[in-house]
Order: sequence, then structure tokens, then C-alpha cells
Amino acid sequence: MQKSNCDVVVLGAGIVGICVALHLQKRARSVVLVDRRGAAEETSFGNAGLIQREGVYPYGFPHDFGALVRYGFNRTIDAYYHPSALPHLAPFLLKYWYHSRDARHAEQAKRYSKLIEHCVLEHDALAAEAGATGFIRRTGWMKIFRTARERDKRFAEAERWRAEFGINSNLLDARTLQEMEPHVAPVLVGAIHWTDPVSVDDPQGLGLAYLRRFEQLGGRFVQGNAASLAAEGSGWNVRTVQGPLGATAAVIALGPWSDVATRALGYDLPLAVKRGYHMHYRAAGEAKLNYPMLDTERGYFLAPMRRGIRLTTGAEFALRDAIRTPVQLGRAEPIARDLFPLAERLDTEPWMGARPCTPDMLPVIGPAPRHENLFFAFGHAHHGLTLGAVTGRLIAELVTGEAPFVDPAPYAAGRFG
Ligand SMILES: Cc1cc2nc3c(=O)[nH]c(=O)nc-3n(C[C@H](O)[C@H](O)[C@H](O)COP(=O)(O)OP(=O)(O)OC[C@H]3O[C@@H](n4cnc5c(N)ncnc54)[C@H](O)[C@@H]3O)c2cc1C
Repeated sequence: MQKSNCDVVVLGAGIVGICVALHLQKRARSVVLVDRRGAAEETSFGNAGLIQREGVYPYGFPHDFGALVRYGFNRTIDAYYHPSALPHLAPFLLKYWYHSRDARHAEQAKRYSKLIEHCVLEHDALAAEAGATGFIRRTGWMKIFRTARERDKRFAEAERWRAEFGINSNLLDARTLQEMEPHVAPVLVGAIHWTDPVSVDDPQGLGLAYLRRFEQLGGRFVQGNAASLAAEGSGWNVRTVQGPLGATAAVIALGPWSDVATRALGYDLPLAVKRGYHMHYRAAGEAKLNYPMLDTERGYFLAPMRRGIRLTTGAEFALRDAIRTPVQLGRAEPIARDLFPLAERLDTEPWMGARPCTPDMLPVIGPAPRHENLFFAFGHAHHGLTLGAVTGRLIAELVTGEAPFVDPAPYAAGRFG
């Protein structure tokens, strides 16, 4: 097959790669987006749909002793681990623990908030251009509480975030919460209603709408294997089903599989995954869930989606390709049923995705330290949907040499040595 050429090849058609490709194509670069399967069919398919404008603190490793003991027994809903994976994961977990200490976590939040503050605006801009605003709901979301102790602690935290980062919220008492969510069981003592974030009722649908816009602008999406990425002169070569593809620049946006390409090029980045599951349910009778909500003290999430009520689970620490073990889903389902009238399951099997994580909780966005014309865009952990559009713009600006709208220095891969 004949070799084709383009300005930029973007590897990985999850939400991050799609946004990178769209932003580059908007800047009149010829872009080919490459994935081994369809677009937004992996992690970006099944997430909880939040664009977390309030998420200035990336999700840290718990430091309180009680929580650590509970996690040690491996019986909680929010976290679960494969004991056999621990020797492999230990170096990552130690670093993650180190960066999650209060003072360090606060420093990381300052860096992270510089990306987060643009998340809704950047998605709004892409969604408007792609005719996809119908996917975005402007209800905010809720963190719900079962005990006064947790509620008061989190209310105080919300006030700190308001003062430090300007994050808006309404602190709801039990009665107001019941009025806003009449079908939720009256077992709650209050909630934080985050009003700045938005949510997406079909994350894959949003990704596909951005992809269509990319193609309308002349971008090409082809199947290919990112593991075949190889330097050729000052550019790059990748094998695709349409034959070899040459590109002046390459962007690795392979989410949890990014290490497949980076390792082959000699980078030893400390990446790991937190796996998560989802299942959809029909709402029983006339029941309606108005807001996405996190059952904070039980550790699962419920979101009204186009396909039904989506229950998503917390972090499963396991090797990326290990056998699926939807233990947390099994634990969460009866508790969710007590909270909200869920009818039958709508999926034949639980869906699983793998959040691509770094130990310092910041994504990797920017040029590769030791290769010309190579860029990294991965490691977005719990916030790949949230930060997809921001990352797309930032990478496009770096590739084309425009002034970046956010200082990219804190997200550089070189921080890992
Ligand atoms: C249960 C759960 C809930 C979540 N909730 C939220 C949320 O509410 N809000 C939020 O912001 N984030 C959320 N996340 C995180 C978010 O889904 C991820 O951060 C995001 O999807 C990562 O996107 P990505 O484009 O980096 O990776 P992916 O979507 O995984 O895309 C990577 C792509 O690379 C492709 N690929 C892999 N290997 C190769 C290869 N060899 N050759 C070619 N292509 C390859 C894959 O096919 C895939 O399409 C959640 C995650 C989970 C699991």
C-alpha cells in the first residue's frame, strides 16, 4: 500500500485524542487520528459524565488511619485491590501517598486548578462548534451525606474551596435536598450542590460529535496500531490499515495504554491505572433522578444518562489487563437500590474502564523530553472528560508554536526525571 503523509498523527481516539485532533485541524494542520478500534469506545465511553469545574483537588490517596485500615481489609465499596498486584503497584502507591500529604496535595491543587478553571468554557466552545450542546446538562451535581460528621467536614471544605478557588456551591439541608430529589430515600442529612460543573448524558456521544466536526474540517480517522510508532528522519511513521502513514509530528494520547508507545521510545514513566465499572438501570415506575450524585460515605456514583441510570464505581487497584472483577459494583448495587428505586439492569455485563493515573495526580501534557516533534497527552486519571478540551487546546498551541493559554510547565513529562 502507498504511504500517505500528514502534518500531525494523533494516537488514541479517546476524548483526549479526539479533542487534540480537532483543535489541531481547526488550526489548518492536516491531522490523522489513529485508533485500533472505534472512537471513544474505551475509558471515554463509560465514565460518570462530569465536567468537574469544582475538581481543583485531584483525587488523593487517603491519609487518615481509619480509612487506611478499612481499605486494608479490602471490603469497602470505594476502593478495592487485587492483592496479587500489590508488589507491582507498590512503588506507584508509595509515590501517590507521598504526593497526597496535605501540604503537597494543596500545592498540586494550585497547579491543577489552572487547568480545571477552563474545563467548562473549553467544552462549551467545542460543543457549540460541533452542534453537541444537547449532550451538556447544566444542573451541577451533588455530594450527598448520611452523617452529620461527614457533612460538616465537607461543608467546611466547600467553604475553603469557595474562598481559595472561587468554587460555587449550595450547602443543602435534608429538607431542601428532599425537595430537589423527591425520589431519593429520606436517609440523608444534607448535600453539597456544586453549581459550576456541568455533566454529559452520553460521554461517548459527545466524543463522536467532536469526531464528526474534526472530519467535517478535513481530518481523517483511521484504524492503526500505535505500537508501530517509529521515528523517521525528523518525523514519525505509523502502520495503519490504509498503509504506512508519515507525519511531521506525533501526539501520544493513548490513555491507559500510553506506556505501550512511550516505553518503546525509552521513557520509563510511573503510570498506573485505577479501574472502574458501570451498570445501567431503569428507574422504577415514575421515579426520576434529577442530579448526578456521589454517595460520599458509601463510595459509588449515580448519574441519569440517556441509556438509563448509570451506577459507576470507585477505584480498583489492579493491573490494567487483569481479569475483570466487578466486586465494587456488586457491593454498591443493593445500597443504591435502597437510596433510589432502581428497576432491572439494562446491560448484559458490567462495563469496565481504566483511569490513566500518575502518582503526582497531574496529567502529562507537553513535548516529549528526548524526541523532536513528539508530544504527550495522557494521565488524566479521574478527569479525562473534564480536561479533554483543555488538553486539546493546549497541545495544539504547543504543536503549532502559539502562545499557550495555560503555562504547561507543571505538566511536563520531564518532572519524572
Ligand atoms: C468509572 C469511571 C468514571 C469516570 N468518571 C469521570 C467523570 O465523571 N469525569 C471525568 O472527567 N472523567 C471521568 N473518568 C475518567 C475518564 O473517563 C478518563 O480520564 C478518560 O476517558 C481518559 O481518556 P483518554 O482519551 O486519555 O483515554 P481512552 O478513552 O482510554 O482512549 C485511549 C484510546 O487509545 C486506544 N488505543 C490503545 N492502545 C492502542 C494501540 N496500540 N493502537 C491504537 N490505539 C490504541 C484505545 O482504543 C482508546 O480509544 C472516569 C473513569 C471511570 C473508569
